[in-house]
Amino acid sequence: MRLLLVEDDDHVAAALSAVLARHGIGVVHARSGEEALRALLPATSPGTPPFAVVLLDLGLPDQDGYEVCGKIRKRTSIPVIMVTARSDVRSRIHGLNLGADDYVVKPYDTGELLARIHAVSRRTVSEEEASTGTEELAFGPVRIELPNRRVSVDGAVVQLTRKEFDLLALLAQRPGVVFRREQIISEVWRTSWEGTGRTLEVHVASLRSKLRLPALIETVRGVGYRLVAPTP
Ligand code: CA
Repeated sequence: MRLLLVEDDDHVAAALSAVLARHGIGVVHARSGEEALRALLPATSPGTPPFAVVLLDLGLPDQDGYEVCGKIRKRTSIPVIMVTARSDVRSRIHGLNLGADDYVVKPYDTGELLARIHAVSRRTVSEEEASTGTEELAFGPVRIELPNRRVSVDGAVVQLTRKEFDLLALLAQRPGVVFRREQIISEVWRTSWEGTGRTLEVHVASLRSKLRLPALIETVRGVGYRLVAPTP
């Protein structure tokens, strides 16, 4: 896997590149927004694999990291993980609105970062599979059959309401990726009515209890929810 690391601090970049290399991730390092955007231009030498993920530090010398994220998103669908010292909810939401797939807050745990990298890159792979017709998703004991809207846990069918199924299917499309509350509400309930927020919480609680896997749907405080595939 190749990763584009956008980080102006050479010490941070060198340390992180070494860690990622030990996990089989090749790193191309860009020190500014401009270098990053240049690195993302279509490969000039044929045979170079595309980047699986962009790891984007928000504090860059030349351009605002949010702005760089917006520009990357306009050019490519490569997953972007923002790295930020700003842990407040508003800046996280801003980043996700600009098309970032996830974010980590400095100082972060390397294990957590690796998990996020794998989650967003798996998502890209599963989207590619989806476009070639994968109609069944499995997460540990949970199977989701999309065409006939059937969900089972350890082979036993679980009766879900229409909205519960829609909610689960939405989160399951991009495991590990945070869905904003507003995004879920608009996609599942087709409304932006604020009162639906409480309805969303009720549906999440109901799904957790029906599937008997409370950890499957994780609450990301102040932002939304994500599906966390159980580790075997
Ligand atoms: Ca920086």
